[in-house]
Amino acid sequence: MKVARFHAPGDIRVEDAPEPVAGPGELKIRVRNCSTCGTDAKIYKFGHHHIRPPRVMGHEIAGEVAGTGERVQVIAAIPCGACAECRRGRPAVCPAQESMGYHYDGGFAEWLIVPAKVLAVNGVNAVPDGVGFAEASLAEPLACVLNGQTLAGVGTGDDVVVMGAGPIGCLHVRLARARGAGRVFLTDVNAARLAVAADLVRPDAAIDGDVVEQVLKLTGGRGADVVVTAAASGVAQEQAVRMAARRGRVSFFGGLPKDDPVIRLDSNLVHYRELTIVGANGSSPAHNAEALGLIATGAVPVGDLITHRLPLSRVLDGIELVSRGAAIKVTIEP
Ligand SMILES: [Zn+2]
Ligand SMILES: [Zn+2]
Repeated sequence: MKVARFHAPGDIRVEDAPEPVAGPGELKIRVRNCSTCGTDAKIYKFGHHHIRPPRVMGHEIAGEVAGTGERVQVIAAIPCGACAECRRGRPAVCPAQESMGYHYDGGFAEWLIVPAKVLAVNGVNAVPDGVGFAEASLAEPLACVLNGQTLAGVGTGDDVVVMGAGPIGCLHVRLARARGAGRVFLTDVNAARLAVAADLVRPDAAIDGDVVEQVLKLTGGRGADVVVTAAASGVAQEQAVRMAARRGRVSFFGGLPKDDPVIRLDSNLVHYRELTIVGANGSSPAHNAEALGLIATGAVPVGDLITHRLPLSRVLDGIELVSRGAAIKVTIEP
């Protein structure tokens, strides 16, 4: 079969590999869609400390179970199920977490073995009728967005600012609507990308330029109830705190570069305005199941966010589109 394997930074090869065989307790899947995200572009450039090459990449996975043809979506982050965090019902922050495409071969392949560990945490979800494989593969990023908005308490009537108009930002806008947000504003430093995203997800305002000033203006000086930074930008995080309303919640959804993770924070804004700053990193198996449900009911439409469908042989083109910010969502069809 054909696979796309990471060998070293800058070296991903589409090559032949033996078709894998499922061991006891494992599940073999014919991958139909595996979508790409910013993380794949980061791995391509820098590698990842959890990847020991060669490794088949790809972690936004949907396909058919070998033999039965059952249509399924597979989680990416695999909690251990046994540690203190898992036992407290917080598998998204399991310190022993492993991931598809990192510790185990991922979905940029015709066939995939689902490890027994994934099945043990209910990490394989049946895809409802009417949901395509490409849409189902977006349940994984939507699960991460769902985790972030749950932690930030996005709810009815909230004015929400989403900073970053990539695929994650688009999912944040759509999910905020589904959760009953009042107005949703979208910002990006790249005006072209903002325009493309705004056309798709129709925020109440698309903002470039001085975002803090404009959000304050749009909210009558009050600020936003929730600000989500869906960008790897310390500047965005600093701005987010400055544009939050009293009792506002700020989600540092996007991580910062490892060599530049320090920001300047006016702590008195947090103190006097009673702000809450929350992180977000990944998702749980339950978030995946819930996300798939949101896609299936149409509460969070995702089909139109998929701007590019490419065969496995063109996975590098896909990753390149993602790094340039020239696509919303690129999905690979092995
Ligand atoms: Zn991803
Ligand atoms: Zn755990």
